[in-house]
Amino acid sequence: MDYFNYKNGKLFAEDVDVETIAAEVGTPVYIYSRATFMDHLQKIQKAYSQLDTTICYSVKACGNINILKFMAEAGSGFDIVSGGELYRTLQAGGDPSKIVYAGVGKTDAEIIEALNADVAYFNIESKAELENLIRLAKQTNKKTKAALRVNPDIALGTHVHITTGVKETKFGVDIEQAQKVFADYGDNPNVSLCAIHVHLGSGGKTIDPYCQAVEKILPLIDKLRSQGHTIECLDLGGGYGADYESNTVPSAADYAAGIVPLLKGKELKLILEPGKSISANAAILVTTTLFTKKSGSKNFVIVDAGMNDLIRPALYDAFHFIWPVKVDENLVPTQRAKDLKMDGTKVVDVVGPICESADFFAKDRSLPPTERGALLSIFTAGAYGFTMSSNYNSRGRTAEVLVDGKNFKVIRKRETYEDLIALEK
Ligand SMILES: *Cc1c(COP(=O)(O)O)cnc(C)c1O
Repeated sequence: MDYFNYKNGKLFAEDVDVETIAAEVGTPVYIYSRATFMDHLQKIQKAYSQLDTTICYSVKACGNINILKFMAEAGSGFDIVSGGELYRTLQAGGDPSKIVYAGVGKTDAEIIEALNADVAYFNIESKAELENLIRLAKQTNKKTKAALRVNPDIALGTHVHITTGVKETKFGVDIEQAQKVFADYGDNPNVSLCAIHVHLGSGGKTIDPYCQAVEKILPLIDKLRSQGHTIECLDLGGGYGADYESNTVPSAADYAAGIVPLLKGKELKLILEPGKSISANAAILVTTTLFTKKSGSKNFVIVDAGMNDLIRPALYDAFHFIWPVKVDENLVPTQRAKDLKMDGTKVVDVVGPICESADFFAKDRSLPPTERGALLSIFTAGAYGFTMSSNYNSRGRTAEVLVDGKNFKVIRKRETYEDLIALEK
């Protein structure tokens, strides 16, 4: 699952004591484990090795260039959704021939940047977007490839804000429209429409939707091929589950066991765009308890991290396991579970300092006794954590620290007050 474990009641990130990092760098702080990123990437690479597969790690989940750099070195490609992510990925040494560019609202400037960078595929979300790509490719005298994002009308059964594969979302085109788009634009000299992209959403907990999606898409591919179109690649998107609770989602091998047999012998390259399943477990957000307070029947633990640092609980009602960085041996968590009641825990709400009632990390949660000054770890914070953070309430964004074995280094400095106003002068 990951490399954040307790030894003698103290939480370690790989071989580094989390308390040491907090003392040196301050809190709140995101702490990443390189070994966890590598472990997850390699497990996916291995699980799909029977097919011609490119893993395109989703930059928006967690995109610090130091992280992208070692991911690129380990053979990962990248799934990007903006010009900023393209820039970041190229700066990190990402291989353009393994970059796929998705997003419903690419601007002309962004498209031209990606054409100039020679990305592998533009993932096209509508007919109008394809027409615009063709126009810009012609204008800049570039040739590129495109994958049409097809919406298979399958729900992942997660939160409505992170469901993208059903008909009533802004993403992709439906299967009938897809055939029309290929008929109209399938053999353009500047833009070769030669792949299908599917992305069902985020946070899936079963493999079934993926298998259903493949089973719905394969007949479309057969049909398009029989009409003379070249379909060289299927991009199955991201959305694979991460262990926010211990062992609650399929492993990479489980997903592959469902998907690979369906695609064997189909003469299709496979692209996967995992974000969360690689990065979520690869970080913790460490925060300091500022105050504890009783209000009516409720006990509050007020911490120095806020919704501006980690918005997932407020935005998606997301669960993050939380536990003190230092505990008595008998209170070392036996697993990460929604309701882990152990002898000596007490029910509390863990909340941030921001002036919003949505500023919480946990409600009615059993936690070991926590006093002013105590460090808490918010687990599985590596996906859509730092990347969704903001300066709301004029709070500088947190530092980011990367741990590698016995060593750690700051890979993004904590923002200062001067940083907050630097662009306003
Ligand atoms: C966000 C996104 C992903 C990654 O999703 P995860 O749930 O983090 O795996 C992959 N592909 C596309 C097109 C996306 O928008």
